[in-house]
Amino acid sequence: MEKENLWKSALAQIQLDISEPNFKTWFKKTSISEIKDNKAIISVPSNFVKSWIKKKYHKKILKSLKNVNSNIEDIDYIILANNTDEKKEAIKVENNNHPQMEFQELSLDPETGLNPKYTFDNFVIGPFNELAHAAGFAVSDNPGFVYNPLFIYSKTGLGKTHLLQAIGNKINKNKEKKVLYIPAQKFISEIISAIRGNKMDDFKYKYKDIDVFIIDDIQFLSGKEKTQEEFFHTFNELYEKNKQIILSSDRHPKSISALTDRLRSRFEGGMIADIGCPDTETRAAILKAKAKEKGFSFPDNVYYYIADNVKKNIRELEGVLNKIIIQQQITKKNINIEDVKLIIKNINQISSSSLSFSKLIKTVSDFYDVNEKDITGKSRKREIVKSRQIIIYILRKNLNYSFPYIAKKIGGKDHTTIMYSFSKIENEVKKNNDIKEEISYIEESLTTT
Ligand code: ADP
Ligand code: MG
Repeated sequence: MEKENLWKSALAQIQLDISEPNFKTWFKKTSISEIKDNKAIISVPSNFVKSWIKKKYHKKILKSLKNVNSNIEDIDYIILANNTDEKKEAIKVENNNHPQMEFQELSLDPETGLNPKYTFDNFVIGPFNELAHAAGFAVSDNPGFVYNPLFIYSKTGLGKTHLLQAIGNKINKNKEKKVLYIPAQKFISEIISAIRGNKMDDFKYKYKDIDVFIIDDIQFLSGKEKTQEEFFHTFNELYEKNKQIILSSDRHPKSISALTDRLRSRFEGGMIADIGCPDTETRAAILKAKAKEKGFSFPDNVYYYIADNVKKNIRELEGVLNKIIIQQQITKKNINIEDVKLIIKNINQISSSSLSFSKLIKTVSDFYDVNEKDITGKSRKREIVKSRQIIIYILRKNLNYSFPYIAKKIGGKDHTTIMYSFSKIENEVKKNNDIKEEISYIEESLTTT
């Protein structure tokens, strides 16, 4: 396999394992410059990236490369400052002949924050997102005059960003209106640095003449009063000029804690639409559409098998699809249901390498806001007991650790206590959707950070 393809396949695997911002930051300008004596020489754009990648991702990179080419035994890194566009061009040209997974991240427009890959054309509609889609479409036809603000909410991975971006892209097409898409986290850091650098005037100026202001994931404004205040000013100024405002969040404005009331009532003054979970039929349709977009096609029973077994969200569906594509490219054999089964099974288990005990304790105690030390201690406080039980459940379920072993890890408790804890949570997960979601959230953060 050529080195470009080898690197692309490896990157595609790495991309599935780490968070998107990390992936973009560290792997953006990397390539394989040569393969010599079973050693892959990877070129990176700077010394900083080199030491970071080496420290944090060395094992992952090696593993992914080995998956594609088992002859590779080691990696070296070199710095190639101008690791450039020529190469990107080469990859692009080749992509036209052999559809491959591309580096889509590279195409963000810095002016608008829009990524052309998200459009209405490739947004599949089903009962779960019909309303949000219709509202978004209406807004894009007549910004500022139909639903203002438009507030879209859903759990993660169900299409908020895609829809917001599609609206932006559609309006931006005729270049008459000035569109700006910004993730709330970025908006917050802009405000903070403007305040620090005494540049609030510049900040205000930037937002003054926008016609369509799209801000994603505003749950991150929660608890940040100063930022909310600035946001409120920006919001009002635009709103009063009939400029379109579009927002998204992972929950209804009512459930965003620590949101000032005036901001909340502003959000509620427009149109609020949620996106639910797609049904099996729609999940299969989405898979089919995504595969086609990437230039692949699989038998219908493959799509249906995935749709039946991967239900959490669309991002996860895409993850499975990507793995299948990679496997097909690597083995050059058509994928069958057995392959798919295996791939899904592997995904559902958090691998032991990514789940360290200390990380699990930290994640869970952060999540429930308890003290890490108390987990292994003797406290019977409700939230501590709950955190402990969740940890036990995750350890057992994902790693199949024995009860006595878990007992030892959790501060030398009796193993019957551990068994009891496990079955308690196991039962609760069946009845109580909240706890099920909390656990998925925790598991997700374990695999993505
Ligand atoms: P969110 O912002 O809600 O976390 P995203 O918009 O990032 O979710 O969606 C996750 C992935 O699923 C993206 O790759 C997106 O293109 C895809 N996706 C979401 N909804 C749809 C849909 N209705 N049709 C096609 N793809 C979708
Ligand atoms: Mg999003």
